[in-house]
Amino acid sequence: MTTTRPTPGAVRPGSVTVTPLGGAGTSALVDTGRARVLVDCGASPDLTAFDASTLDAVVLTHAHPEHAGGLAALVRRGFAGVLAATPDTLRMADIGLRDDLLSRREDEGPAAAAERAADDAGAGSPDDPAGEAIHVRALGIAQEFDAPTPIAPGVTCTLRRAGHALGSAWAHLDVDGAGTLVVSGDLGRHGHPLLRHPEPFTGADAVMVEAAYGDGRRLPSDDRDKLAHIVFTTLDRGGTVLVPAGPVDHIATVLFELARLHRVGCLPDGVKVCFDGPTGLDAVDVWRDALLAGSPELRPEVLALGAAAWDVGELVETRSASESRRLLADPGPRVVIAGPHHGDGGRVARHLRALLPDARNAVLLQGRSPVGTAAHALAEGATEVRVGPDVVPVRAEIGRLPGMTTHADAGEIVEWLGHGAEPAVTYVVHGTPDARRALRDRITGTLGWHAEIPASNTALDPAAGAPR
Ligand SMILES: [Zn+2]
Repeated sequence: MTTTRPTPGAVRPGSVTVTPLGGAGTSALVDTGRARVLVDCGASPDLTAFDASTLDAVVLTHAHPEHAGGLAALVRRGFAGVLAATPDTLRMADIGLRDDLLSRREDEGPAAAAERAADDAGAGSPDDPAGEAIHVRALGIAQEFDAPTPIAPGVTCTLRRAGHALGSAWAHLDVDGAGTLVVSGDLGRHGHPLLRHPEPFTGADAVMVEAAYGDGRRLPSDDRDKLAHIVFTTLDRGGTVLVPAGPVDHIATVLFELARLHRVGCLPDGVKVCFDGPTGLDAVDVWRDALLAGSPELRPEVLALGAAAWDVGELVETRSASESRRLLADPGPRVVIAGPHHGDGGRVARHLRALLPDARNAVLLQGRSPVGTAAHALAEGATEVRVGPDVVPVRAEIGRLPGMTTHADAGEIVEWLGHGAEPAVTYVVHGTPDARRALRDRITGTLGWHAEIPASNTALDPAAGAPR
């Protein structure tokens, strides 16, 4: 750890700009003068800030919607460069795209979906009429961890394990002759049930770190006892346990925790666990493949479990809309997993409408949800909640499990940073304004580093350490 601000080193003033983009989720545009690279492409990115057809590459740190949900829109706006990510992130991004496409079509209803499918006819498959997922898949180049890879003229990218989601990485960009930039993406927490710790920060001329969980509140180490109690008592009274989770975000960790309950008898034989989603359990297959391959990302104790890691007894998947409707009519006791995790739209909205008014049921909320979503309102103790066009009374038990997150908290983020030498500048992005301020102050107070909160859509010069 250093306490004095270093000189910028190899970074030359004016040679590289970094622009954090607005919109939901995270994205940062790196412009070297010779190349333009986007790091992550979050949901609803502000794509008006640049011409997507001029991008040489997109680096994906991981496939969660907040980081990859804007890929289809980027392709529609002309992006035809390279999509660099680990092999598992590319597989997960493809699953996420297909899930999003099919969920949107279901939400639109059969008439509108048929009309749009007719408009798009000829481009792709029935599940992907516009060929969005096909286009994105074609751009992908699989990049193994720790392998420096040229991705654009003068830009080499190295991906290091982030321990947050399978295949997740933090990105180290080396801009030929101009310096280095690290973008943290989401970092995993030390108590991640499935993944090993992130590779420590190794230093860079500039670093961009995310503050989604940076507000300084210490997360519980785990909420497993609470989870076990709620699942056991809800099933005992004949209710349904609903866990909002999408295929690429939390499903593998949810099934892993349910498998643990199954092994100790809190999830009795004969109780169905249902995953309700159009991409089914494709994402869990990616995890199963990693386990079979002995992936160094996975914790040794998970590898030791083998096939038992995700064995919940009776697992049912309902891919089609008609199967999903039958599931809604099926009485409990049972456990239902449906996305998206924030509870707005998709199949989870239908389950919330059906289950919230009945006190026998329970809804389990993991981690934190974005402000303004149904899951956030439920976590805040709302007695009624808006789900699509309906206002639904909340009589079901609401289980808040903030400790069941895969995000590093502020202390863990600062500890990760402290492994490297001080950069010329540390940018704190993403998260609420309070979270960004808290993380900036903690970085400054604990490490003595120069840290800033940049405005969105403002070109930053890492060499100068201030907005232009
Ligand atoms: Zn994430």
